Amino acid sequence: MQLETLRRMSRLLCLTAVLAHPSHAQSILGFAGASTAKQVEIEEQFKAIPTPAEARRQLRILTAQPHLAGSERNNELARYIANEWKNQGLEDVVIRRYDVFSSEPKETMLEMVAPTHYRATLREAPYDQDPDSKNPNISTAWIGMSTSGDITAPVIYAHSGNPADFALLRKNGIDVRGKIVLVRYSNPYSYRGFKALTAEKEGAAAILIYSDPAEDGYGKGKVFPNGPWGPETHFQRGAIEYDFQQAGDPTTPGWPSLPGAKHIRTEASPAVPKIMALPLSWHDARPLLENMDGPAAPHDWQGGLPFTYHLGGKRVRAHLKIQMEETLKANYVVEGRIRGSEYADQWVLVGNHRDAWVFGAADPGSGTAAMLEVTRGMGKLAKQGIRPRRTMLFLSWDGEETSFAGSAEWSEQFAHELWQKAVAYLNVDVGVAGPDFAGNSVGSLAPLLVEASKGLRDPSGQSLYETWHVSRAKTLKEADETDPVTDFNLAETRIGSGSDYAALLDHVGVPVMDVTFDGPYGVYHSAYDDFYWMDHFGDPGFRYHAVMAQLLGILALRLSNADLLPYDFGNYGAHIREYLNTLAKKSDLSKLDLESLHEAIDEFERGGKILNESVQTALESGTLDSLLADQINRGMMSIERNWLAPGGIPGRPWYKHLLYACRQTYAHLELPGLTEAAEGGDMPLAQQQAAILGAALRTNTELVNQLNRELACAGGLTRRGVPLCPAQ
Ligand SMILES: [Zn+2]
Repeated sequence: MQLETLRRMSRLLCLTAVLAHPSHAQSILGFAGASTAKQVEIEEQFKAIPTPAEARRQLRILTAQPHLAGSERNNELARYIANEWKNQGLEDVVIRRYDVFSSEPKETMLEMVAPTHYRATLREAPYDQDPDSKNPNISTAWIGMSTSGDITAPVIYAHSGNPADFALLRKNGIDVRGKIVLVRYSNPYSYRGFKALTAEKEGAAAILIYSDPAEDGYGKGKVFPNGPWGPETHFQRGAIEYDFQQAGDPTTPGWPSLPGAKHIRTEASPAVPKIMALPLSWHDARPLLENMDGPAAPHDWQGGLPFTYHLGGKRVRAHLKIQMEETLKANYVVEGRIRGSEYADQWVLVGNHRDAWVFGAADPGSGTAAMLEVTRGMGKLAKQGIRPRRTMLFLSWDGEETSFAGSAEWSEQFAHELWQKAVAYLNVDVGVAGPDFAGNSVGSLAPLLVEASKGLRDPSGQSLYETWHVSRAKTLKEADETDPVTDFNLAETRIGSGSDYAALLDHVGVPVMDVTFDGPYGVYHSAYDDFYWMDHFGDPGFRYHAVMAQLLGILALRLSNADLLPYDFGNYGAHIREYLNTLAKKSDLSKLDLESLHEAIDEFERGGKILNESVQTALESGTLDSLLADQINRGMMSIERNWLAPGGIPGRPWYKHLLYACRQTYAHLELPGLTEAAEGGDMPLAQQQAAILGAALRTNTELVNQLNRELACAGGLTRRGVPLCPAQ
């Protein structure tokens, strides 16, 4: 009772605070005084459109059946989304086809043959209260890009399957060559493709990856269907493509998989694994673990099952049979747009993948449901004559779950156009899996994301900005980072990889953002990531879906309508310095001469800050000439492109961005060329990479300074009576 009164009171206080300080008095990044009021009005109109009920209705449709990439149901959903978009008022709706290398299981079988017999079910148990869990089209346990084979071999417990784990096995005299290794998904987390590559390098014949209850099951809390965590028979499907080498179709590196395109042999691709792999539930892993001999596993290798885990090696033998079918499968990307009223050839992209391992309620249905609310809102505004100044381009990707195929092939096809036209790409994947907001962004767009969060109300009643502070503090604490949360580190700018933004950023140089509501989500890539899970645990009431739609819409509207694009290169420079400082803390850089690189970063940051000031003054002056504004915008759009190295980063030519890539573990990786060379002890290469990075920084500093001169001098800007035009 008391608690409820308190809650009611604080809600009342919030309301009073909002009424006392109307949020509309403030300026918006990139908008001149005269356009701000109009923009606020458009945003208010848009924000009123997305509803929880409509998001829920869409999610029910999207999750009605399993819809794997390339499946008939997923293609049907492509046509469904295309139709929805047409009805909502989007223009130029097209479905693009890519014929993508795909692998699907014809047969998977695992049985323990010693010391006793156990045949793995490789199935997820149905529950009466959730009719979807009884759907006969739910797939068996399988891993995308596993090789085929039929082996019988001893089973070894290799903890999380990371290199340090194999080193410990070696120390214990255990040889994994030709054997089956059983590993956990995350302790600590690493990408399953990295585990596969590690096991492959160690000479193992196969890898079994299971979900330990300590990680996403009863060790965390109540399990499905009574809670959000994974039950006994859930397993995590997934692909093991080595997409950290090259994303997209592994047989068309660097060119689009258009029908009839040339494909290289899979043996020639560094992205195709050469090991058998299968995911397991703990229900199926338990008999293997329970029967293992050998030394007891170390303390931190012990899991959530009620017995001591052993390293194994002799006693437990298993028979594993996997028959994969490898074919080219048609993947479909749906594209629709609202043509810009003034700058139709400047594109603000918003995208989300459509394909799912099974029903995909959180991953990716929640993102699609939110995106469909964004398009409904934009269509409605357009019908009222409220059109964005730049073109908004919406994308429903396919084949994300195996290799980011849709977004990667599409990016390869339209790379030249994107270099000319792309303003930014807003990605959503898991739109909602709980209440904790997380926003990732390249350094130049982080202030825009922070600003947008201030104008939105989180379902808890606070602003999204306030609740984001809380979730961000939690994340930083978990990562042992002691810095307090500020506007500078609120958005994560170490953006890494893991969803469709990878191709757009790392291969094409489009500035990106990625947003999600995270939470207790133990059913990832399992059949239980379904409508029942979302309706009961992920987002009962679907209010987070509606906020996600509002956020994506506001971001798209600001990028589309801004007078001067809201990039912040001063902020970008400050983050780049931080990346270099972090590298210096973790690696010995004493043999490198990095003075000129530090100078180049300083100058880029300084130039960016001065440009920010000129932009602000120009916007406030009320005299910004639209031709000049367009010229400045086009210049600013090319900054991100200048971070690309045409030859790519060493050893990974597909990854071209000098600031961002990912590690093999999927961990984020900044200044990838320099960092990997320094960590590998190759100082001549590191010095060369530092020089390439320095040159890109100087190119961009020159550009930023030139844009500043154009803006300040041609615009005749003054601040407190002093001309901002720098002396030549
Ligand atoms: Zn996803």
